[in-house]
Amino acid sequence: MKKLTLLFLSLLYMATAFAQKEPEATEVWEPVPKVIKGHNTTTPPPSDAIVLFDGSNFDHWMAALDHSDAKWKLEDGHMTVVDKTGPLMTRDSFGDIQLHLEFRTPAKIEGDGQGRGNSGVFFQGRYEVQILDNYENKTYPNGQCGAIYKQHIPLANACKKPGEWQSYDIVYTAPHFNADGIKIASAYITVIHNGVLIQNHVEIKGTTEYIGQPKNIAHGKDGIVLQDHGNPMSFRNIWIREL
Ligand code: MG
Repeated sequence: MKKLTLLFLSLLYMATAFAQKEPEATEVWEPVPKVIKGHNTTTPPPSDAIVLFDGSNFDHWMAALDHSDAKWKLEDGHMTVVDKTGPLMTRDSFGDIQLHLEFRTPAKIEGDGQGRGNSGVFFQGRYEVQILDNYENKTYPNGQCGAIYKQHIPLANACKKPGEWQSYDIVYTAPHFNADGIKIASAYITVIHNGVLIQNHVEIKGTTEYIGQPKNIAHGKDGIVLQDHGNPMSFRNIWIREL
């Protein structure tokens, strides 16, 4: 009997270990957020804001991977992802911030699920608020537009149609670590998408991993990252206020 129990436990362990290596293991498919019609809130930067992108230059941005010059396309007051040039990162590092950002998913629908209009904004380069075209496009809700990727399903789906400008207004509180590198306070985040509250002061459990569980390795201030997921996503009017 003992042998059987041992066998069962080791099989269970192996199955769990295998499952943790699969991205599907951390997908959550319910509840599906209700669809809400919001409105893009184009808010000019307040007087104390740091304007990260006004549509005219990449002064505040660099390639995240090798810190070379940004290679995305700059035109008509916005920037657009160029496939395989990699994510962009701010040259400066930040902690607690209020962020305003506007994005546009491609007007021409290509791909589906996670492959359609995918980008993301990463706080301190680690914690992703998903950007995705979920206008009549189904995916796992904890990875849809406005999700804290694979941690928190958004409270609503406020996505606009492909090709329309959309807004994020986000309040982000950075995590704290002690001298031994142990996390002593989690990060928290509130997200408003097209004027609709979709994340209400939720706890960020750690890094937003595609595969596996969140990690909590000590870090300080770090750059804001915009993801290159291969889709020609556009951005404009990005500003922050340090808190
Ligand atoms: Mg993404």
